[in-house]
This record gives sequence, structure tokens and C-alpha cells, in this order.
Amino acid sequence: MKYLLIIGDGMADYPLPELENRTPLEVAPTPNLDRLASESGRLGMVRTIPRGTMAASDTAFLSIMGLDPRQNHPGRGPLEAINLGLRLTDEEVAFRLNLVTQDEKKMVDSSAGHISDGEAGRLMAVLQEHFQGRRMRFVPGKSYRNLLIMERPPFDWRKLVTTPPHDILGRPLTPYLPKGPGGEFLIGMMEEAARIFAEHPINRTRIDLGENPANLVWPWGQGGPAQLPAFQPRYGLTGFTVSAVDIVKGIGLAVGLEAVSVPGATGYLDTNYAGKVEAAIEGLKRHDFGVLHVEAPDEASHSGQWRLKVKAITDFDQRVVGPAVSALRTEFPESRVMVMADHITSLRTRTHTPDPIPFLISGTGVVGRGAATFSEKTAGAGRRYLREGWRLMEFFLRPEIT
Ligand SMILES: [Zn+2]
Repeated sequence: MKYLLIIGDGMADYPLPELENRTPLEVAPTPNLDRLASESGRLGMVRTIPRGTMAASDTAFLSIMGLDPRQNHPGRGPLEAINLGLRLTDEEVAFRLNLVTQDEKKMVDSSAGHISDGEAGRLMAVLQEHFQGRRMRFVPGKSYRNLLIMERPPFDWRKLVTTPPHDILGRPLTPYLPKGPGGEFLIGMMEEAARIFAEHPINRTRIDLGENPANLVWPWGQGGPAQLPAFQPRYGLTGFTVSAVDIVKGIGLAVGLEAVSVPGATGYLDTNYAGKVEAAIEGLKRHDFGVLHVEAPDEASHSGQWRLKVKAITDFDQRVVGPAVSALRTEFPESRVMVMADHITSLRTRTHTPDPIPFLISGTGVVGRGAATFSEKTAGAGRRYLREGWRLMEFFLRPEIT
């Protein structure tokens, strides 16, 4: 049996007045999802963000991978370090380091206009050179998602409070700067970096072109080396991830899932959807379990533009779910698919929220319950609600879902 999990990141949302009290998932035309729901689907709701944890993709994806995030959270930095092929030593701490755009001390853009890999890489190299000999490594990742690795930091990083920059869009920076042990150290580093970036030709060009400059670095999600229980011994399946996002690949690698790279996978609306679908189907020839992760709905939600989110969900249905399910059924007669969000990303607040999200399971051994569509409402109307999100994987892999 082959199992494919398709994740539309941040796809779930709340009803919006401007959409006549419907959600973007209800408004977007999603014939493929609706067909799965009505023909053979089992719908339900799941809480992937346990109370008291941060509503973020890493928390959600740990739950989805069958791990309780309250007991298994190595931090965003260390997980992305794994994805970049870096092994942290016990003396090292990794921070996720965003390139961001600030204006008048407000967080304008947590992605610095989706800065290109090339520009981001050059800015990170400039920092590496500037901070030489201060036990800090600036490691380029993808676009605005980079890493700061500190060796034996001169403060207790476990007590340091940092904030994800996408949670404070449009807000003043000052209250959210690193606080507690190491706070001043990091703020000093941020100020030095900002002075260097202000003069940098890359930013002058970006401003000239009307693009958001990378005029600040923002450290968060710090942690030591990640150690997570492996997927294969728990579920008896080997697997892989297809994703443009380091955190998904990183958690996957940390639990032993192969990270399949796809050329042109950007994590945005211009991503190579067909290439990702093809990579997932190919992956299932080597493994029995695969994750196909699409970031675009989340990015669209953070922009606050409902039309963009509806477009991202429409593409997700038409260019990912449709072709993936049809190829899955053709290639593997014994197969099952689960489609879900990972968490809600609210268009209204432009942030992640911890409320339960809908999922849909269809395929071999699944007895459908015939909902007309796939949405927050139809999934909520079903009886199936998993309060402990890390039990969902077990449910998905059950021999029979009746
Ligand atoms: Zn997410």
C-alpha cells in the first residue's frame, strides 16, 4: 500500500465578511477535493497545535509526523540546519535568521520581498566576513530563510525569548526584539548588520526597482542539535518529503524521511507544481509513504490578500491534488491519500492560529461518508475530531477506515 499526504500550508481559515461569511477554501473552486470528499472521502478535524505551543509550521508538522510537539521540539533553527546538511555539535546553537524589511521600526515584510537566493547568499557572506572571529556563522539557506549558528554562546539561550517575524507584520519591532539572556548581544548584532545592509548595493538596487530591501536580520527559533524519534520504526514505512520549505524537509530528515529536491520549487505561487507532483509519484516507487507539501496558500495568507489565497487554493486543487490523485491511482492500485492544511493562517490577522483544521482521507480501505465538498464546515460536521494531532498519522495508516 502506498500513502501520500498532501499538505496545503496555512490553507484553512475563518469565514470572512468580504467573502459573505465563507472561508477561502469554500470560495475557491476545488472540484478535485470536492470529488474526493463526495465519492470516497472521510473528513475530520484535527488539532495540530496543542494548547500552550506556538502556532507554527514546525509545531504542526511535528504533530502530523506523529510526534507530540510539547515533548519533541528542537526549535526552528536546528531543524533547518539538518535540512542544510549541517550537523550541530553539542556546543552549537542554531537560530533561524530571516532577512526582513523594516520601515520606521515596523516589521513591513518578514521575507524581504522574497529576496532571491543569490542576493541573500551575498548578504550572508558580507555578514560572515564582518563578524569573523566572533564565533558566529552566517549560513545561507533559501531566499530570506537563513541561519545563524553560534558556538558556545555567552548566554543561556534556553531562556532567551525570540519572536517569529511573520507574527508581527505591520507592528512596531521594539517590543518583539530578543529579550532575556543574550537579548542585548543579539540586538547589537542586528544593529551592526542593519548598518552594513543600509549601504549595500543589493539593497540600493532593490529600492530602485521598487522591491523591499533586506535592511534587517531577525534571529529566532534557537535551539541545540535536534534528536527526534524516527518514522520507520514507529510505522514500519520508509518515506520522503517533497517541499520547498526547509522546515518540512528538516523535520522529515530528522525523522528519517528522504528530502527530495525539485528544480523550480520556490515555496510561492510560481512554484513548479508539476515537478513536485511528478517527484512525489516517483518517490512512491522507492518508498511507501510520501509527503507533498505546498507552501503557497500560507504565503498568500500572510499577504492578507484574499484573492491571492483563493488563487493559491485553486492552484493547489487543480495543479497538485488533481494530477497527484489521478497519477497515484494509475500507478498504484493499492493507495491512499490524505489532504490537509497544517494549521490555519488567518487572512484577517495575517498570522497562524492554533484552532483545529480539516483533513480528508480517501483510497484503499477507506469507507467514504459522502460530504458534498471539502471545507472547514463539512469537515467540522463529521464526527471525527482528533484533539491530539499526533494520533492522526496512526489513523491515516490504519488498515481499514470504516
Ligand atoms: Zn505552515
